[in-house]
Amino acid sequence: MQYYSLQKQSPNVDFKTAAITGQAPDKGLYFPSEIPQLTAATIQRFKTLSKGELAFEVMRPYVGDSIDDATLLQICTETINFNFPLVPITENIMSLELFHGPTLAFKDVGARFMSRCLGYFSKGTNQTSTVLVATSGDTGGAVANGFLGVEGVNVIILYPKGKVSPIQELQLTTCGQNITALEVEGTFDDCQAIVKEAFMDVDLNKKYTLTSANSINVARWLPQQLYYFFAWQHWVANYGDDVPMNIVVPSGNFGNICAGMMAKASGLPLGHFIAACNANDVVTRYLATKKYEVRQSVATVSNAMDVGNPSNFVRIMEIMQSNFSALTNALTSYQVTDTDTKATIARVYKTFNYLLDPHGAVAFVAAEKYLATRPDARAIILETAHPVKFPEVVEEAIGEQLPIPASVQFLLDKQKVAIPLAPSYTAFKAWMMQ
Ligand SMILES: *Cc1c(COP(=O)(O)O)cnc(C)c1O
Repeated sequence: MQYYSLQKQSPNVDFKTAAITGQAPDKGLYFPSEIPQLTAATIQRFKTLSKGELAFEVMRPYVGDSIDDATLLQICTETINFNFPLVPITENIMSLELFHGPTLAFKDVGARFMSRCLGYFSKGTNQTSTVLVATSGDTGGAVANGFLGVEGVNVIILYPKGKVSPIQELQLTTCGQNITALEVEGTFDDCQAIVKEAFMDVDLNKKYTLTSANSINVARWLPQQLYYFFAWQHWVANYGDDVPMNIVVPSGNFGNICAGMMAKASGLPLGHFIAACNANDVVTRYLATKKYEVRQSVATVSNAMDVGNPSNFVRIMEIMQSNFSALTNALTSYQVTDTDTKATIARVYKTFNYLLDPHGAVAFVAAEKYLATRPDARAIILETAHPVKFPEVVEEAIGEQLPIPASVQFLLDKQKVAIPLAPSYTAFKAWMMQ
């Protein structure tokens, strides 16, 4: 498989180069030169494959010659070695829980796959690569956990001081080994600006082989297709082939929903896609007005979706061959306010005894809006993180304290280690060059 840059100014590359470099030299996102097409017979066979085998078959064409079969099977099996349950909330809304991985967020899937690929590529070379990543919360923990102990890769995480939740902070500051956390006296935007500048800095790029670990990287983006396949396996086992599985995805950078749309484009029989957005609603407005107007991001209670200019939306346009009516046939989007989000956490907990996190709550509201005019339809929402990662919002909404799950209890005894950093590129560069 070859990958081309969506800016069309850089040469095509294989999976390995796309994964190591992250972005094309012309700053475009990489996109597969063809979307693998699954035959009806393959789809039929997929219904009963184990998760590991299914993951291997889905990823095989995308990875091409870059990784041998035995290694890829192992990478896939390790990537998805936790549960992806589909849990009913109401008569017609189910929750696909993507928070049973080690850092309690869906980003574990992409981070685990990508880290294992980079570890494999660095084997036998004596080159060390440095993963630089800015986080508003979930990415940092998932990347730290995914890359912990991977030889030949160092990870530097920049996070905004006081703006991530206590569990998120422990997840990214207690790893040690090859993981370093920088606590930036500023906002997420400051962290992101430093990382962007680092990739363009000649001195830094002479000293380090820099790699980005955000969702523009194909090795993080493409494996996110896998849980759409797993959910579909559960779905057809429950409802058969004739009930469409409509899918509501809480969206920020649109990497997650775009992966689902790739799975559908390759022939997986999925229903309609619904992008649930908070006040950062550039895509919602685009679908309504055909005008794409980027704005500064605004802070909300579903902060992992506070993105003013979603980087993966260009990939959705590529899947849709830039055809606006094809896009609106495949995708609907709703904007949800913080007031509705908080009220929904309380209401769903009370009425249905199901605890949503703020991102899942945005998706739940969007699902209700979509289903309001379609009484016979059903939908799943993607629950992208465990509620305990956002205790302030969730505990206030339900008026109860959340128990800490056993899987993260051990973090509470660990010591935070972070290097304080002023929110300036000069300070960052001085630290990197010393
Ligand atoms: C990252 C994140 C999102 C947004 O996912 P995108 O792929 O950027 O659209 C939604 N919910 C949670 C909990 C996240 O961490």
